[in-house]
Amino acid sequence: MRVRKPAGSFAPQEVQQFILPISLCSIVILAIIMLKNLFYEPSFNPELFVYGLTLITGTIINHFVIVRTADFRETYGWLNAILSGIGLGVLPFFLPAHLHEVAHILIPFGVIAAAIVSGRLYAYTTFVLAFLLSLLYTFVVTNAPSDILEFGMPFITSIVIVEAVLYIKNATQRNIHRLETINKVSRQIMLSLDTEQTISLMDATIQEALEADTYFIGLLRDNEIHLDLFYDDGEYFNGAKAPLNGTLSGWVIKNQKELFLPDLRREVGLDGVEILIVGKEKTNLSWMGVPLTAPNVRGVISLGSYQPNAFDGADMELLSNLAQHITLALDNTIRHAQVEEQTRLDSLTGVYNHGYFLKKLAEQAVEASTPDTPLSLIMLDIDFFKQYNDTYGHLVGDRILKTLCTAIKHHIKHSDAVGRWGGEEFIISLPGAGGLQALQVAERIGQTMAALRVEDREQRTIPVPTVSQGIAVYPTEADEIYRLIDLADRRLYVAKARGRNQVEPAAHHWEILQV
Ligand code: GH3
Ligand code: MG
Ligand code: MG
Repeated sequence: MRVRKPAGSFAPQEVQQFILPISLCSIVILAIIMLKNLFYEPSFNPELFVYGLTLITGTIINHFVIVRTADFRETYGWLNAILSGIGLGVLPFFLPAHLHEVAHILIPFGVIAAAIVSGRLYAYTTFVLAFLLSLLYTFVVTNAPSDILEFGMPFITSIVIVEAVLYIKNATQRNIHRLETINKVSRQIMLSLDTEQTISLMDATIQEALEADTYFIGLLRDNEIHLDLFYDDGEYFNGAKAPLNGTLSGWVIKNQKELFLPDLRREVGLDGVEILIVGKEKTNLSWMGVPLTAPNVRGVISLGSYQPNAFDGADMELLSNLAQHITLALDNTIRHAQVEEQTRLDSLTGVYNHGYFLKKLAEQAVEASTPDTPLSLIMLDIDFFKQYNDTYGHLVGDRILKTLCTAIKHHIKHSDAVGRWGGEEFIISLPGAGGLQALQVAERIGQTMAALRVEDREQRTIPVPTVSQGIAVYPTEADEIYRLIDLADRRLYVAKARGRNQVEPAAHHWEILQV
């Protein structure tokens, strides 16, 4: 059975590989002792033989059974540590005096194997038991500590090697964990088509793989660094902004270079950079920043620590790697948003197309469902446009459509929406605007059109068509968007019937005028 390994650790078969030399050498040494006892010693010592056999069996069980179980850090691990400790500690009791040196090899072997298989705590359990029993033998049984150094040798060796092995093991496991994290994030991040989701994935990854007091992802927009993700000492300050000039992040973006600053107390020596603190009052003493550069992305990802020399080359390497993933992912999400935006727009005029306008209007209507928060709708149609096209040509007609849309956009707010309803018919929604405000907007659009100057190919000034408009107000006049559209449309045709080039306002407006 293959045992699944926990994240970042070694697989049981890998652990088995690591301890193979120790297991083999231990078995060979013990076998030699037993054979020597059997054939060459003047008198056969059965206890030594049984003892050797027990240790060999223990080694084999440890190697082939315990290491391969998922439990080698729990019950079996403890059992193994205690038995090994006792087994190794009683070595001097069984070995003939001239073979005591063997303990110098077998004790470190056992302790190191426990460290590799189960960890520090288990290794030192083995160590302490072996030490106490050896001590008992040396001071009580023989009562003659011939040489304290000789007695301590295997234990000193054990400590030194165990600590070195554990250090290497931890460093390797940390790197494995980091690679696993990168692997996982690169798969997830490439599937994400949403900028916010991409950034929150990155947040989770940094938390998992790197140790930093502060980190941020800053994207350059309108010459400012927008910190879409900004973490500082346990708190988020997402949405903060930092200037491009005079900051470390700005330097990274402008110079397109990675920056690794192990100790900010020393002179940074970068042209025009003053350190900027955003977020908490504490100051970073270590700082790393990597530029994010793709066709649609310019930004920086940065990590900071309040401690100097908190990061090493491996951290920088990891940040660089993460930066590549986030750059690609952000570029993807931005491209996707652009394509999606394109599918919402009318290709000639750049205003919303029929379908998207309806969707937008439905959303706006949900928010404007009380008379206190009205929503006005303007339906607009160019007068005698067929004739205009016939007279001045379709291309001039197209230019008029584009100019009209620019004029409309000029007179409406960011929260308003404009859509191309059909050929030369446009629809404008004004959330929050009552009939009177809608009338003012409609009149301004009409006036702007009238004031336009358009020239034909020979640069002769040609007349601009007039527009007719109809207004309806939600929810007072119609409590459902299709009825609202229908009402505005009927009012548009009233305006046409009245002689065109005019606005037919909402009913409420006439009531006000009659008072
Ligand atoms: P009315 O005042 O009654 O609205 O008269 P009209 O001529 O504007 O109305 P009609 O519906 O008869 O004609 C609409 C014209 O709009 C027909 C078509 O030539 C023109 N049109 C529709 N789409 C476009 C376009 O994309 N570009 C151009 N140049 N003209 C278009
Ligand atoms: Mg028309
Ligand atoms: Mg029309």
